[in-house]
Amino acid sequence: MQLKNMSLLQTQLYINGQWQDAATSRQFAINNPADNRHITDVADGAGDDTLAAIASAKSALPAWKSKTANERAIILRRWYELMMDNQDDLATILSTEQGKPLAEAKGEIAYGASYVQWFAEEARRIEGDIIAPPSNDKRLMVIKQPVGVVTSITPWNFPNAMLARKAAPALAAGCTFVAKPASETPLSALALAVLAEEAGIPAGVFNVVCGSDSAAIGQAMTDSPSVNKLSFTGSTAVGKNLLAQCATTVKKTSMELGGNAPFIVFDDADIEAAIAGLMNSKFRNAGQTCVCTNRVYVQSGIYDQFIEGLTSAMKALKVGPATESSVDIGPLIHRKAVDKVQELIDSAIANGAVLSYQAKLEEMGSNNFYPPTLLTNVGPEMAICQDEIFGPVVAVQRFNDEEDAVAAANNTEAGLAAYFYTQDIARTWRVGEALEYGIVGINEGLISNAMAPFGGVKQSGFGREGSKYGLDDYLEIKYLCLGGLA
Ligand code: NAP
Repeated sequence: MQLKNMSLLQTQLYINGQWQDAATSRQFAINNPADNRHITDVADGAGDDTLAAIASAKSALPAWKSKTANERAIILRRWYELMMDNQDDLATILSTEQGKPLAEAKGEIAYGASYVQWFAEEARRIEGDIIAPPSNDKRLMVIKQPVGVVTSITPWNFPNAMLARKAAPALAAGCTFVAKPASETPLSALALAVLAEEAGIPAGVFNVVCGSDSAAIGQAMTDSPSVNKLSFTGSTAVGKNLLAQCATTVKKTSMELGGNAPFIVFDDADIEAAIAGLMNSKFRNAGQTCVCTNRVYVQSGIYDQFIEGLTSAMKALKVGPATESSVDIGPLIHRKAVDKVQELIDSAIANGAVLSYQAKLEEMGSNNFYPPTLLTNVGPEMAICQDEIFGPVVAVQRFNDEEDAVAAANNTEAGLAAYFYTQDIARTWRVGEALEYGIVGINEGLISNAMAPFGGVKQSGFGREGSKYGLDDYLEIKYLCLGGLA
């Protein structure tokens, strides 16, 4: 991999400001999903390395939380600037290990950095309250203090942004941090550690432990009484296990789990805008995002016109490796992901779905690519409507009635993102309020930014990332009662 700044390509663990091998000296391989080529080997951290990182975060905590909010804000601002200064290199690292097209990878770097910028600003707005007392000899005050040592576990689909949007509010609040990136994509996290050091984040405040035994690292984090909080982004199944593990030490948790996003197009929608919105919400990162549209509901009056427009938009998509310019869709993360998408499609077709369109792919460097695919006549009981597809597949159902569409959209355990298109203002409010989701895109397919609260309800988890609410997840409320004032 060629970078302007080769020091960003690190392969060791970053603990207490030191780059070091795993305690076992073991390493594991990182491969490029576009051609299955070996990129490099990375230190294979495990339980002991995690405990060392937690110890360093604990000893760095008193000095970091004693800094003024302004001092922390200046350091975080510098981290943000360094991310943007190194945007091209960070994007190259990201797309090489993860597969997303280079332009999309650059977008993710700017998106991740925007959380660091936002929370550098929010650090100065940690405020308490004075409460009217029940008697005149008392004064009641509320202050907010950092939660303490925070650990994070993040997925491969946004190797930069999922980490940045946890580390930034944690550090802004005065917490110290131990990150465990996904084992497919640790290089982006290690590159962030290089820039953290350069930005002046003190040793022990931000640590990275990567490793192939995620269960061992997770267990060390959840068992440790020194860890005050676990912030997790990933699948609902793993999130549930980690929640149970955190119960033994009653840790605070934030859980950003899987989604099953509905996308409803009403007869009164602007059809072109709805197709553009669906293309954005479905095909980003080859369909591998938690807010990707999973189930499409189209009202009967515009159904044929919508399917026709959607098919021609899908025909324009270009699939290929990240390095090729003008590519819209890269490979899926690995072969298992391709097999899972194929199984969902085969099972849907066996149960009556119709393969309305599937692109033909040329020979690629690996067999991890999947063609854009359109399924119609899909039914709610099919696995493709219940599981996250995590691939470039659109699964469409037809509906007649608004109430039925909303009920069908809500008929899932997930509650992360939902989308709908209408030009009727009353329907906008009615449906917006009725959808049981943490995020609702109305006439919009791209909903995530640092200013807005990102997070789910139901089994998509809890906690909010970004926005003025995002700092609260990393702050404790303390009530001070001052008596004897009579
Ligand atoms: P995953 O299997 O749950 O993995 C996520 C992270 O958890 C990885 O770092 C993984 O490490 C780690 N992990 C796996 N098993 C573990 C265990 N037993 N103990 C501790 N850590 C463990 O999810 P994924 O397939 O990588 O990511 C896709 C999922 O993330 C989808 O469900 C998607 O919807 C969800 N997601 C949610 C959001 C959100 O904000 N709500 C955002 C992005 C993605 P290894 O990689 O080393 O196994």
